[in-house]
Amino acid sequence: MENLIMDHLVSGTPPFSVSIELTSKCNLRCRYCSMDNAKDSYKQQVMPEKLISHAMEIVKESHPPFLGLSGRGEITTVKGWEALLARFKGMAPHTHVVTNLSVSLTWDQACALAELGSITISIDSVDHKLMNKIRKGCDLDKLISNVVMIKAAARYMGRPKPNMSIISVATAASIIGFSRVAALAVELGVSSLSLQDLVFYYEEENPEVDARHISVLSPEEMNTVRGEVVRANEILSGAGVGFQVYTPFIQFLTGTPVVTERLTSHLGPHLRTTTPVPEGHTRNCRMPWDMAILLADGGIEPCCGAIGSVGNFAEIKSFADIPSLPRLQALRRELLTGQLSAECRMCCQTSTVPVEEFQKIISDHVVSRAPA
Ligand code: SF4
Ligand code: SF4
Repeated sequence: MENLIMDHLVSGTPPFSVSIELTSKCNLRCRYCSMDNAKDSYKQQVMPEKLISHAMEIVKESHPPFLGLSGRGEITTVKGWEALLARFKGMAPHTHVVTNLSVSLTWDQACALAELGSITISIDSVDHKLMNKIRKGCDLDKLISNVVMIKAAARYMGRPKPNMSIISVATAASIIGFSRVAALAVELGVSSLSLQDLVFYYEEENPEVDARHISVLSPEEMNTVRGEVVRANEILSGAGVGFQVYTPFIQFLTGTPVVTERLTSHLGPHLRTTTPVPEGHTRNCRMPWDMAILLADGGIEPCCGAIGSVGNFAEIKSFADIPSLPRLQALRRELLTGQLSAECRMCCQTSTVPVEEFQKIISDHVVSRAPA
């Protein structure tokens, strides 16, 4: 690819999906979360008011179509979080929050959440004890009753219910039984269930609960897992609920072998398991073109957290400034050339694609997003 075109592809297109991590503190301690394992590189804190005000200025300036109000951390742990959410009301056509809903909501708090466009919650198992062992501190009963409260609040206010979705993270301990999560998802009236592989994980074998990647399961257990996924699909599709599974996970379930590596990064020493990237291929990942997370400590993340911060949002005025960040440009270039960092090479969220095909995908994408 010619240098000029490459330069255009790495430096164009600001993100359209933006999230503001109003806090990185959390009331849970999920075993696969980086919170505790990366304490040294990532402080748990509520976003300082100065940064919140600046993030609001950036949003006003940039008008993103999609505005998330979470990152890592749990918004409901912030004192006065309802008022904090209300400050962002009307600032984007669609507002979204990821929450663990593990504290009992008051009616007013349920009303505050009911005003959002969408809410994502996490359920790995319908077994209370197991769920609590994997997502330490999680209370499944509270979560279920909070979902009902939010829907009741929306009905009371005469407004549409927020679109709710569930993420279920696959671990060796919880995947057998996943189809029950699908049944619960239907009864909770969510619009979709996403089965996600472990993006990264920390634990070796643990007698208390096996929160490792499911590739440690035996061939017989893996057959049961395939049955669980098929059954979940039947339950969900029969009820008109969407079912999402990332491509590498489907490939793995259907027989593609996986590789596991131990990496050390800003996330601390951790493990990753995914399907390998063939020679001449790259990750089919548009996240560094499409999304940005403004972190509670002032950083800017371009994807799921694996890459780390690529800049400081106190230094930008609009999302249009983000594509000029050198570290973001380097990441985009790596994806466009297939010269991947260990984080992207071992990423389980995106499929692989020949390098030239990916360059065409991004070229078309940049053209489609250019101002008319
Ligand atoms: S709820 Fe989210 S942020 Fe909190 S510990 Fe679990 S994975 Fe981490
Ligand atoms: S780690 Fe790389 S491939 Fe994975 S989501 Fe982030 S940018 Fe994309």
